[in-house]
Amino acid sequence: MTRAERAERAAELLRRLPEIYPDARCELEYSTPLELLVATILSAQCTDVRVNAVVKPLFARCRSARDFAEIPQPELEVLVRPTGFFRNKAKNIRAMAAALLANHVGEVPRTLDELAALPGVGRKTANVVLGNAFGINEGVVVDTHVARLSQRLGLTKFSDPVRIERDLVKLFPRDKWSQLAHWMIFHGRRRCRARKPDCSGCALRDICPAQNF
Ligand code: SF4
Repeated sequence: MTRAERAERAAELLRRLPEIYPDARCELEYSTPLELLVATILSAQCTDVRVNAVVKPLFARCRSARDFAEIPQPELEVLVRPTGFFRNKAKNIRAMAAALLANHVGEVPRTLDELAALPGVGRKTANVVLGNAFGINEGVVVDTHVARLSQRLGLTKFSDPVRIERDLVKLFPRDKWSQLAHWMIFHGRRRCRARKPDCSGCALRDICPAQNF
């Protein structure tokens, strides 16, 4: 497929996806950038539904970076245990909060470099926070759904998230980068599932090279 053909497909996706998923948005529940940062750390290898259940008592117990830095490790482990990998997640959240206190007066920074320098925070988590809490389009969040759809729709030939993101940012306008991930994640969860995608009911079928699943 030529670059022009991929660009044309990307443009068509930009026309269709907002119509198919007008309410696509971040499905993690949060009310502050700090809460979104913590929820996103907890969402690794875990469903948003489970994270949303876990953060209710967690955010009632911890409201500030100081609260998250000072909560004892065993208490935090109990609170986040249902999300899996709870020892590491609790350790990362406490270390991340301590770094916010030490370097950012307890506030969540607004740049990719500063966010990605926090313990337990990678490029993906940083992009989630920038795009959703601050409305800053620094990149495209490439999770398992975005990666799978990008490959099936012929937007990339790579499987490495960083290389996929590099392809996506060339194909889509910057002001759509954050929302693009939401549209693709909605489609990946509801239609283009990893196993048994619903190709026969898919509104992208006519432009999808992988439509014969
Ligand atoms: S046609 Fe099938 S593989 Fe292609 S986007 Fe739709 S569900 Fe996914």
